[in-house]
Amino acid sequence: MAYAYDDQNIFAKILRGEIPNDTVYESAHCLAFKDISPQAPVHVLVIPKGAYVSYDHFAAEASDAEIADFSRAIGEVCRICGLNGAGGEGGFRVISNAGPHGAQEVPHLHMHVLGGRPLGGLLA
Ligand code: IMP
Repeated sequence: MAYAYDDQNIFAKILRGEIPNDTVYESAHCLAFKDISPQAPVHVLVIPKGAYVSYDHFAAEASDAEIADFSRAIGEVCRICGLNGAGGEGGFRVISNAGPHGAQEVPHLHMHVLGGRPLGGLLA
């Protein structure tokens, strides 16, 4: 299927430097910045620099290098923010909303990285 990307979405504007962001991490293919309306002590959005609407779009059309970089970027954000999912205290959640059923607000792929407090049940 063809994926339509709206280059006027707010994350496209952030990537073009048209509006500011609070950057946590940047790599060749990704940018990670603090969510403007944090839902937890750590709430970072990780986005690819490429024009992808959603994770299915990204998985279908991104290069292996972009996919690897995106995965690494999420891990780097966890490390930078002191989130550790490998047992013991703490932990985190990574989620990506897509489309109307996913309640996606911004039509540029983003992973929410949330942590710093108990987050409750997934559908709470
Ligand atoms: P979605 O519902 O998964 O699309 O989430 C979009 C997220 O983007 C929300 O958590 C918003 O708070 C966040 N957001 C919207 N505009 C900005 C911004 O300019 N900077 C950082 N985060 C933003």
